[in-house]
Amino acid sequence: MRQTLDHLLDSWTPANRCLLAVLMSFPFFVLFWLFNSAAFLHAEVAEGVNHGTLVALQSFLSVVLMVSIVIGSWLWTRRNLPDRVPKANLLVTFNIGLGYLAIVVATGAFTTGMALVLLGVLAVGLLLFSVGTVLRVFIACLLIHSGQDALVMAGWLPYAPLLNAQAFEGGVPTWWLSAWQNAVFYLGWAMILTLVFVLFKRLDGLHLQLAKLSYTDVLTGLSNRRYFMERLTSESNRYARSGVPYSLILLDVDHFKSINDRYGHHAGDEVLCRLAQILTEGVRTPTDQPARIGGEEFAVLLPDTSLAATEIVCRRIAEGLRQHTFNVKGESFHLTISMGVVECRGEPIEAALKQADRNLYKAKQGGRDQAIYSMAGEVAP
Ligand code: GH3
Ligand code: MG
Ligand code: MG
Repeated sequence: MRQTLDHLLDSWTPANRCLLAVLMSFPFFVLFWLFNSAAFLHAEVAEGVNHGTLVALQSFLSVVLMVSIVIGSWLWTRRNLPDRVPKANLLVTFNIGLGYLAIVVATGAFTTGMALVLLGVLAVGLLLFSVGTVLRVFIACLLIHSGQDALVMAGWLPYAPLLNAQAFEGGVPTWWLSAWQNAVFYLGWAMILTLVFVLFKRLDGLHLQLAKLSYTDVLTGLSNRRYFMERLTSESNRYARSGVPYSLILLDVDHFKSINDRYGHHAGDEVLCRLAQILTEGVRTPTDQPARIGGEEFAVLLPDTSLAATEIVCRRIAEGLRQHTFNVKGESFHLTISMGVVECRGEPIEAALKQADRNLYKAKQGGRDQAIYSMAGEVAP
């Protein structure tokens, strides 16, 4: 059950959303259909209800259930398709709304909590469909209910047509009517609470997904510049308390333009993805933080790491790259990378980045395929 629900929420296709509404409301209507049918069998209850109305209500609920089954089966075959299902949306929401209305009107709107019915319809719709669909169903239900109410007040329609005088004892509902009314109330609430839970679960999932997307580089799957800067800031703040230095590496691929020029931009992208893997393999994840901070520029943040330890990491990354043979369009080649490295002790992050960039520039000037190291605030030799 939980897996099915998770699957429905994960593959949030239009048909799946609609299907969820059908699955949520179906047990509710089945239960009431069974309750009402039991009234035929129990002598005391049978005395307190009008048989004609009960048959009409049961027939109407049967239609609601049939529509749910038919539309549910149709939606099931489309649950993984991205196509919109506007008519099904409307049909499902109306079906649920009218089903509720029928139950409540037949047994008396004021004694069963009409607001709950409309809230239910609204919750289903807001959760699953567009606001436009919900609004139409909401207004239609409201009109039907107000019309019925007006007719009751004018004396043209009986209030609670399902019930007769035997349903009350001295003006108070009998035990079975009280039980029935409580059942409507609590089942209605249970359904609404379930929907609210589903809604929050969905929002939670979306929030996580969005946070992940906003921190991830689309091409390589590494963290992006935004996340890297946040980690760098928190590491800089942490130094103030711990006094343990951390290091920063900026990496830029050597002569990357020539890869693009020779094999095309698409092949260049593939090379960047492979580079990201090599970089990840070269560091101690999850403590060390590699990221793609520009086109073919990468960075690694190494918490609790001195310059001497960072040198080992840089050599490992350079070695990993040297060992790797890139194969593109039937040709093989090797790449090298230049690095600018600083050991930081809580300096402002802009200053640390600038210094790492200066060291990177020196590495390029010095012939590429090398790393230049310095302590933050000190000039590299
Ligand atoms: P250098 O050794 O001086 O770094 O030489 P370079 O050719 O690598 O020069 P530079 O770092 O200035 O070049 C960056 C190039 O990277 C320019 C651009 O065409 C390419 N590039 C930037 N972003 C992307 C990307 O997302 N995909 C691809 N395929 N290429 C990119
Ligand atoms: Mg560059
Ligand atoms: Mg470059």
